[in-house]
Amino acid sequence: MSSTPHPLTPIPSEQPLKPLAALPLLGMSLEELTTWVQQQQQPAYRGKQLHQWLYQQGARSLTDISVFPKQWRADLAEYPVGRSHLRYRAQANDGTIKYLLRMADEQIVETVGIPADKRLTVCVSSQVGCPMACDFCATGKGGFTRNLHAHEIVDQVLTVQEDFGQRVSNVVFMGMGEPLLNTEAVLTAVRSLNQDVGIGQRNITVSTVGIPGHIRRLAQHQLQVTLAVSLHASNQALRQQLIPSATHYPLSALLDECRDYVRLTGRRITFEYILLAELNDCPHHAEELAAHLRGFQSHVNLIPYNPISEVDFQRPSEQRVNVFAQGLRDRHIAVSVRYSKGLEADAACGQLRARQETPALHPR
Ligand code: SAH
Repeated sequence: MSSTPHPLTPIPSEQPLKPLAALPLLGMSLEELTTWVQQQQQPAYRGKQLHQWLYQQGARSLTDISVFPKQWRADLAEYPVGRSHLRYRAQANDGTIKYLLRMADEQIVETVGIPADKRLTVCVSSQVGCPMACDFCATGKGGFTRNLHAHEIVDQVLTVQEDFGQRVSNVVFMGMGEPLLNTEAVLTAVRSLNQDVGIGQRNITVSTVGIPGHIRRLAQHQLQVTLAVSLHASNQALRQQLIPSATHYPLSALLDECRDYVRLTGRRITFEYILLAELNDCPHHAEELAAHLRGFQSHVNLIPYNPISEVDFQRPSEQRVNVFAQGLRDRHIAVSVRYSKGLEADAACGQLRARQETPALHPR
């Protein structure tokens, strides 16, 4: 376990998306697809057909679209639709399925399908790797490779939807990466998931560890999505011990920005708080956290730590978790506990990395 602060680590900056030779079709709106077919000298109604085939029928290539003229399909056979290839699939006993998907440039991205009652939640990645290097998170251990494009995010949701044969009801940006370091693609993907795939904005959650200025910027878009902020500590010293970037973004500044978000959007924030035994899960931490959040339109989601191999943090006992949660409730803080699913498939929060570490339980 690291206990030293990280004074020299700067906050990673937002990397531009690499331009692509041809813009993949996935992630485009009906209007954009209509413009695209017209540029291809086709009648406008083909835009609607294309939209339907991409988002409802799961077309993986333009040659799949049987309602299109044969010659046109042949001409466009190589045009990128934007679908990934399944590299690996592992199912945990609770039904959670983890997928490794191969992108056009061979990069591997991890995504997770989580069934619960009638719901199907997809935990999507927003980056290949992650530059934030939080101590307790497996993704950060592998470093950062690149931002994902919008179509690569939408593809993850369609892939899970097709594999389960069930409509996706919820999407959480809690896979690999820091979504607010890839805002443009994340916003485009949110638009497409909402308007093209048909997932309600209120059923979409964007989770961030906090990048200065970016939460306020997000508020200006006036989305209905839920913002989740990874707090994980009840004071600055503890937070910067766990999260390198926190050294340059004091807890007080982060909370000020969150307050602005609530004021500007009228929406409450979810604060995620990972529970690490004996480190941040003592009754006085609950008291300290409650003091910060008093009167804040928010909700605390406690996440008992999911073990990763590189560090020796411990998951607290259920009893410690309950005492912590009660400590918050006693101070009128709304709280829930997230016992992550998919643990034995290494598919739980913080366990995502783009390689097959453990033998698959039911590999395909
Ligand atoms: N970068 C974003 C989203 C990625 S992770 C963020 O930091 O919010 C989604 C959630 O899982 C975050 O709250 C993250 O801190 C948490 N997490 C990371 N590693 C974990 C672990 N080992 N056990 C439990 N939760 C973890």
